Amino acid sequence: MTASNVIEINDTARELRTSLAKSRRAFRSDPAPSEKTRIDRLNRLHTAIFEYKDRLIEAVDDDFGGRASAETLMIEILPILEGIRYNKKNLRKWMRKSKRHTPLMLLGAKTTVHYQPLGVVGIVVPWNFPIMLGLSPLVGVLAAGNRAMIKTSEFTPKTGALLAEMIAKHFADDEVVIVKGGVGVSTEFTKLPFDHLVFTGSTRVGRIVMHAAADNLTPVTLELGGKSPAIIHDSFPIKEAANRIAFGKGLNAGQACVAPDYILAPRAKVDEFVRAFADAFTKRYPALQDNRDYTSIITQKQRDRLLDNVRDAKEKRASVFEINPANESFEESRKLPMHVVTNVSDDMLVMQEEIFGPVLPVVAYDTLEEAISYVNDRDRPLALYYFDWDKGRAERVINETHSGGACINEVMTNVAVDDLPFGGVGSSGMGHYHGKEGFLSFSKAKGIVEKGRFDGNALIGAPWDNKYFNFFVNFQLRRFRNP
Ligand code: NAD
Repeated sequence: MTASNVIEINDTARELRTSLAKSRRAFRSDPAPSEKTRIDRLNRLHTAIFEYKDRLIEAVDDDFGGRASAETLMIEILPILEGIRYNKKNLRKWMRKSKRHTPLMLLGAKTTVHYQPLGVVGIVVPWNFPIMLGLSPLVGVLAAGNRAMIKTSEFTPKTGALLAEMIAKHFADDEVVIVKGGVGVSTEFTKLPFDHLVFTGSTRVGRIVMHAAADNLTPVTLELGGKSPAIIHDSFPIKEAANRIAFGKGLNAGQACVAPDYILAPRAKVDEFVRAFADAFTKRYPALQDNRDYTSIITQKQRDRLLDNVRDAKEKRASVFEINPANESFEESRKLPMHVVTNVSDDMLVMQEEIFGPVLPVVAYDTLEEAISYVNDRDRPLALYYFDWDKGRAERVINETHSGGACINEVMTNVAVDDLPFGGVGSSGMGHYHGKEGFLSFSKAKGIVEKGRFDGNALIGAPWDNKYFNFFVNFQLRRFRNP
């Protein structure tokens, strides 16, 4: 456990390759870690998080220039601890060889699947949940018996430095390595011939990363973004929907991959939604500027981007409602009030790009078919939220739309359930992690045939015109006569 499991790149590519080679050598010396070893690694991660949690909360707060500690605890720390516990509890069952059906041709043989660790897994982390999005994949990676290299985000340097210190203290430098740095480092990192690469970030960079991984035929899990809609059915109480949506949209000031990106509301109820949402938001955040419960925008550049999008919408005749409960000025601030945008159209940036901040466009619809088509006409989102007490209609919406995950009468919490696979579809990503699906993603499912002393092939093999072969083939053809 030395400081060398922290790489601050000078001669980037060479150091990264050296570090990967070291981890790979260590993996080869123990290619099938026992349950006990894996649990020991998970326990060490648990201990590390407990030891560092207060400092981690402070570091994220510093990086954001104001991040609600309750949010860091609830969204970043607790889910990892929960994930560790869930993985430990199920590990023995997941690691067990799975017995499979053996066809007649292999009479006397046994067929099984072994779940084998892949080796060294790379993990690339974005800035918005800099602890959780590094350590949550790590839980699955370690449970599946792998080693890991984690590239933290350049926009959360304090958190990255502290994670590096924490990992160096609790893990050997060939077990888990933290790599800090920006796009240059990340570019070299994603070119490494990992045994698997987990990338969490934007769809644009996801494409670049997948190209880089393709050169090594490295399999990827891409956890990307997109525009996650929330559809409110005409029969659903608007106030209730607005309350539930305000809870999710307020978290991290909307800087979450699964934040509701836009609302599809019945045309006659758009104004009622705007009022109810403003009330709900105001109750949760009566003031914003010095309110430690309301998170800042990560960088000035991101803040400018969000304001540009709002300006663009206004210029194109949208109506913008700024929810600024205490009527504060935000001139010199990294905080941003919530903006609800109505009368939106497809030519506006707010309807083209992922929002990722406190801006919420509302699209009016007339029929449920129209709302479903609206979603299906666009890129497949990471999540879809549907508000309706009618279970049949909810089932229909789930069946007729594609999204990485979904919640009914709720937003975002699908991410928090370890027993649910998490991952996008189409331009919101590919592959899954969390729980059993994470274990499977980071394992090779190796199919194995084990023959005993009896060798049927010795009887039926060439020269083919023999009685055993003829008997076998005729028997099989009779078996398969009917579809
Ligand atoms: P980003 O794509 O800009 O960066 C993510 C990571 O990729 C960073 O570590 C960065 O250093 C690295 N990177 C940047 N350019 C690169 C390149 N050319 N080659 C290789 N690596 C490169 O994303 P971000 O701004 O940090 O995060 C916001 C995005 O992440 C949003 O789109 C959001 O939806 C998405 N996100 C998705 C999930 C999910 O689980 N699906 C979770 C959080 C965030």
